[in-house]
Amino acid sequence: MSDTGTIPPETTLLLKGGQAFTPGTDWHDPPRVDIAIAGDRIAGVAADYRIDGRQAVEVIDARDHLILPGFVNAHYHSHDVLAKGTLEEVPLESWRLYALPPQYPPRSSEEFYARTLLGALECLRSGMTTIQDMLTLYPYEDRHMDAVMAAYEKIGIRVVFALQYADRKGIETIPFWKDTFPQELHPLLSTAAEPERKLDLIGHFETTRLKAAQRPRVSWALGPSAPERCSLTLMQRTIELARRYDIPVYTHIYESRGMALQARLTLPEYSGLLIRRLAEEGVLDPRLNFAHSVWLSPEEIDLLVEHGAGVVLNPQGNLKMKCGIPPIRMLQDSGVRVGLGCDNCSCSDAQNMFVAMKLFALLAAVSDPTPGPPQAIAALRAATEGGADGARLGHALGRIATGFKADLTLIDLKDPSWSPMNSAARQLVHIEAGRGVRHVIVDGKMVVRDRQLTTVDETTIYDAVKAVMPEFRRDFATISARVAKLQPWLDRAHQQIMTAELDIERLPFRS
Ligand SMILES: [Zn+2]
Repeated sequence: MSDTGTIPPETTLLLKGGQAFTPGTDWHDPPRVDIAIAGDRIAGVAADYRIDGRQAVEVIDARDHLILPGFVNAHYHSHDVLAKGTLEEVPLESWRLYALPPQYPPRSSEEFYARTLLGALECLRSGMTTIQDMLTLYPYEDRHMDAVMAAYEKIGIRVVFALQYADRKGIETIPFWKDTFPQELHPLLSTAAEPERKLDLIGHFETTRLKAAQRPRVSWALGPSAPERCSLTLMQRTIELARRYDIPVYTHIYESRGMALQARLTLPEYSGLLIRRLAEEGVLDPRLNFAHSVWLSPEEIDLLVEHGAGVVLNPQGNLKMKCGIPPIRMLQDSGVRVGLGCDNCSCSDAQNMFVAMKLFALLAAVSDPTPGPPQAIAALRAATEGGADGARLGHALGRIATGFKADLTLIDLKDPSWSPMNSAARQLVHIEAGRGVRHVIVDGKMVVRDRQLTTVDETTIYDAVKAVMPEFRRDFATISARVAKLQPWLDRAHQQIMTAELDIERLPFRS
């Protein structure tokens, strides 16, 4: 970083005098800097830039602000944005029947558009500049895909987009379900991520990817729902495509005790370890990101490190879905890549990275109660660099440095959370809850200015949501009534999952 100088000639926006988390500086007391933005990139960072009077530069007074790289929400699903606040704590296996019901009633394009905008709005207003949307779009229709893409383009957030898919039915992949539920109820137990028809993955990917490639701020990823829900052929095709296009893959693994138990029961040839199965099948790859990873064994963590794969932790949803606490300290000690996400709106409810970071930092202590390293900076890094690296965009996102994308969040420090400021990193993780997010810049544009979205009138988003809610509420009530009828069997199966012997323990389940 230069001390002073003339502003780069192509500068369009100058953030003046904010405290910025630039790489290599003290994140407890970040230096005051000027950040010059030219178009969609950071053109330079200096202690004090002089502006040539002839330049047309917008200057933002960033004194009394903290400037951080925009958060990367590395695991998110826009398909149940409208279901926020609908459920109390529910075991994961039961929750899937609410969030991704079978025979998913057809949705309107208006609903797709409204919910995508609403989810993105919440993310932007809490300082996220990139989201990884792993969308269940089933049955697939071009007009729905177009509505989603149009919403993202309009609102101006950056998206790493993946369709979620699988080719095995849920009932075949959850322990005890097949034997517990009467045969006639089985058709009610699959979820929308498991298509009835043979998914033409390559066809979908290549046509939709071409569309996505023409859109700014959209990059493509692949989203096999979970390895146990995908045949070997499907996983192989996924990894083959990921390698051919060098794009990331997002999948769910070991979110619940039941998912780990399923691996132990069905994979004796791999010592019951799903990650070992993937390694031996040749599909464990640096492009893979494993959402949740709550029930990984130490041997599997070593395999992730060996193959360069990463994890994305979602502490809010893990607690609400009764899944447990990931082995955060063990993951950190291993050096595996860690990102942070806020997952579904019906299981995490809040798309809020401040909550995710705070839980990450606090649960690290619970995952291993012996004294360990400080966690605030680790949480911040996971919420920014970790997510960017997992998306294979670490060369352009997640850091404040010359040449990187101008994706930045400014936190207003004139707030009780910040008085006195003893540590920027600790107060951001342990005190700030999102109230301070004042400006959000994506691709060099002020997408949120003074806490207001600039790209879309926020009122029109709330109105559009209101308009589609009667239909959504009616369908959700039908789905809820259907799940309620299954409750006695769901409870029995859950009880079996929680009491069956498993050769690995995770807090808070340790006795
Ligand atoms: Zn998820």
